Amino acid sequence: MKSILILLCLLIVPAQLCASEFSFHQKSGLKSGPTLLIIAGVDGDEPGGFHAAATLVTRYQIEQGNLWIVPNLNFPAILDRVRGTMNLKFANVSKNDPNYSSIKQVKSIITDPLVDLLLNLHDGSGFYHPTRISSQRNPDRWGQSCVIDQEQLPGTQFGQLRKMAETTIQRVNKKALTQDHYFQMKNMATASTKDDIPAKKSLSFYAVSHNKPAIAIEASKKHPVYLRTYYHLVALESFMQQMGIQFSRNFPLTPAGVEQIIKEDALISLAEGRIQLELNNMRAEIHHFPLPKAVEPVFTSPNPLVTIQPSKDRYRFHYGNNRLAFLEPEYFELDRSIDGVEMLVDGVQQQVSFGSIIPVDKQFRINNQKGYRINVVGFTKPGYSNDGNFQIRYNQLKKSYSIDNTGQIYRVEVYRKERFSGMVLVDFRPESATKESRLAQTPSANQLANERHN
Ligand SMILES: [Zn+2]
Repeated sequence: MKSILILLCLLIVPAQLCASEFSFHQKSGLKSGPTLLIIAGVDGDEPGGFHAAATLVTRYQIEQGNLWIVPNLNFPAILDRVRGTMNLKFANVSKNDPNYSSIKQVKSIITDPLVDLLLNLHDGSGFYHPTRISSQRNPDRWGQSCVIDQEQLPGTQFGQLRKMAETTIQRVNKKALTQDHYFQMKNMATASTKDDIPAKKSLSFYAVSHNKPAIAIEASKKHPVYLRTYYHLVALESFMQQMGIQFSRNFPLTPAGVEQIIKEDALISLAEGRIQLELNNMRAEIHHFPLPKAVEPVFTSPNPLVTIQPSKDRYRFHYGNNRLAFLEPEYFELDRSIDGVEMLVDGVQQQVSFGSIIPVDKQFRINNQKGYRINVVGFTKPGYSNDGNFQIRYNQLKKSYSIDNTGQIYRVEVYRKERFSGMVLVDFRPESATKESRLAQTPSANQLANERHN
């Protein structure tokens, strides 16, 4: 129950209240099976690991067994783009430590009786190699390795740590782009080492010393983030297969496929779903942006790495280590009397929910509705304050008013007197013409009222 609360906290309550908390996601198949726990983001500057974990949340379905995911364990460090020192605090942490509560909560997840194997995702320096080849490829490096603390953990179902890691390494190396990217095994022999090595204080060793099999996956920081994410996912799938966890995903597991979905998954919804934004290619600053009055922005995102942080009298979108657009809000009361607009898009009439992102090839028209005012930001017709019922072509829109940085996506805002009803984005990007509309399901006023009563 506690775990579910953490998730709800992050997704629904204003971001700044919860940015110190991680999210916890549980996916279960219809068929029962073992439970794999994935933890990423213990080090805040290792985005390959946490984008891989977030991708499990957004893009994978589990058919058999259970996948539990903590994609953003040290979320404040992720937002600050720093490593942090959390991974040195698992043997001992002071009650006054800012990481205390997160460590306490994640320890209770790790030691849950259902957890059969823990995979801990990191991005490591250079390339680990058991012998010294060069300054970047030697025993002191970490990248492209599976790290274990000991060969096996007897008495547990998935305690053959070396064997499991070796099987995964073979699999990863079959899918590696070049031999230079091959994974190696790194055995820390943590318990039998006399020295007070950092590994003795780590999350992985905490798990092993509490009888939970644990393996760390380290992608190389020499790779771009999407390629690190690719190697993490190839390794993760191999471990799931070894455990008998059956899954499906809705994208091709190739470097290009992973690069694409990392961009596409940066979505956020505001104003009770009446606004949806694609954060990936937004302008650096968005002005006069309508938000519900007098509250901090409440948001939802399918992606656990997306959040909003206050920045003086503006807000800033964050996506993992990426600091994105600043939003300058203009506050309105919310109007819940309608859930969308009628549009004519390239000659096709359609009812469009607020929060949708609609591909347009040549032109669009928003049908006027009595009592409502349409504002197409970037379109002006002298003498008119309502942009409804005009056929609008791309070249009639002022590029500097687009919401994206290539001048191709525009805001359509709907108001009822002084209240804001919702927003639709019109998307003139050529590549989006072949894509499906991103239709939002704006909850109706009735649904919201029911939810409040429940
Ligand atoms: Zn790390």
